[in-house]
Amino acid sequence: MNLDNTDKDKENLSRKEFLAITGRSVAVGAAGTLSLAGLLQNDAFGQTSNKAMSPPAAIPPGDEEPIVLEAWKSDVDQQSGPTPTPLPPDRRVRYAVVGLGHLALEEIIPALFACKKSKLTALVSDSPEKMQKVARQYGIKAENCYTYQTYDKLKDNMEVDVIYIVLPNSLHKEYVIRGAKAGKHILCEKPMAISAKECEEMIAACNKANVKLMVAYRIQYQPHNRKLRDLVKDKTFGVPKFVEACNSQSSANPAHWRHKIALAGGGALPDIGLYCLNTTRFILGEEPTEVFAYQYSTPGNPLFTEVEELVSWQMRFPSGVIANCSTDYNVHESRRYRVMCDRGWLNMDKAYAYKGQKLTTAKADGKMEKQEEIGLAEINQFGAEMDHFSECILKNKRPFTPGEEGLQDHIIMEAIYKSAKEGKPAKIVKRADANTHGPEPVVT
Ligand code: NAD
Repeated sequence: MNLDNTDKDKENLSRKEFLAITGRSVAVGAAGTLSLAGLLQNDAFGQTSNKAMSPPAAIPPGDEEPIVLEAWKSDVDQQSGPTPTPLPPDRRVRYAVVGLGHLALEEIIPALFACKKSKLTALVSDSPEKMQKVARQYGIKAENCYTYQTYDKLKDNMEVDVIYIVLPNSLHKEYVIRGAKAGKHILCEKPMAISAKECEEMIAACNKANVKLMVAYRIQYQPHNRKLRDLVKDKTFGVPKFVEACNSQSSANPAHWRHKIALAGGGALPDIGLYCLNTTRFILGEEPTEVFAYQYSTPGNPLFTEVEELVSWQMRFPSGVIANCSTDYNVHESRRYRVMCDRGWLNMDKAYAYKGQKLTTAKADGKMEKQEEIGLAEINQFGAEMDHFSECILKNKRPFTPGEEGLQDHIIMEAIYKSAKEGKPAKIVKRADANTHGPEPVVT
């Protein structure tokens, strides 16, 4: 092929064609093509110079399209990019974080500073010393710091679009409803509340106020878990038959709200077992019709005078899949699941952790058992989840994990407790809005 040919329809070469001709690579455009104009410009420079210069790059005018830099890697290696597409600070969706505890200070607030479409503008806490320090550290104005008593005044704050509720579970309902009445969009931590009835009230309040409501199910925005879901959906390893899921950890402070029924609404199940439940529904894309459960707490352990230690349950799905799930507050940390299919299995270690997910698969190939680890770039799950919600607000879309997603989990958890109490299976009534996700998030 003549590289000097500037004929329009010959301007773009496929990557393979280009490498075949030149043995080197240049910028790849959005459609996976190479710019001949860029190549000619490069050739015009002749040999490599040690003078500072910008090699050709595709620079789309829109803030949401990545800059495509000159490529240099062969397709033998894992590709990098696309380059991040942060919105300019004055176009980002503005968040108030309510409750400055472990999750807010260790994960959410730092993640907001790694976000591309979201930013922190306000804080709500009853501890003035803590709030002043956090405000100083993150550059939050004193007038954007509220207490639980002055919370409703957020209504008049034009520098806040979203209220993110990071309080103990039983406080979610009150602060979601008050936040919706203040006219703000709501992101609510999991579990959404302490009962299905509360979830219904929260959804109704947000609908009435015409604000969006999303539940913070970060796993549904995490690349390894999303990849596994896609492999199950595509039947890459055949038809799923059986799921095993476990989320367990160890706690030691009986005075903490997690061990008080009035604040937590339950023990291991709503706090961490919920991940097994919600992620299994996400992976399978269907809703359980029946559950069967056991529950146990070590007698005399002060951690478990009000909330349960261990729940083990099975869920039956319409396709015939059975999920075997377990959760415990009194064992060494273990967060994993495996999907058994008729032609192989998919396994996720550290499945529900903040990072470190490990996706492995297995299938037979003749005399071989082929086990593979699928390596994907890690992202900040909290940042991805918040940027998705911001995208929904900017583009007026339904969130991928709306309030109805949280409600469905509470309906299933109530059936799990019922089954454990009665010692027999509990049916789950089919709801029309049980699986009404918004459009798929773009996770990069
Ligand atoms: P935490 O105890 O560390 O923080 C809770 C915050 O709420 C504290 O700042 C506390 O001062 C405040 N608070 C207000 N009223 C309170 C009261 N009456 N009693 C106790 N605290 C009160 O808890 P956390 O681990 O940050 O959990 C907060 C929420 O986030 C919970 O709903 C939890 O389920 C959820 N969470 C989600 C994830 C996740 O990965 N998505 C991880 C951890 C926690």
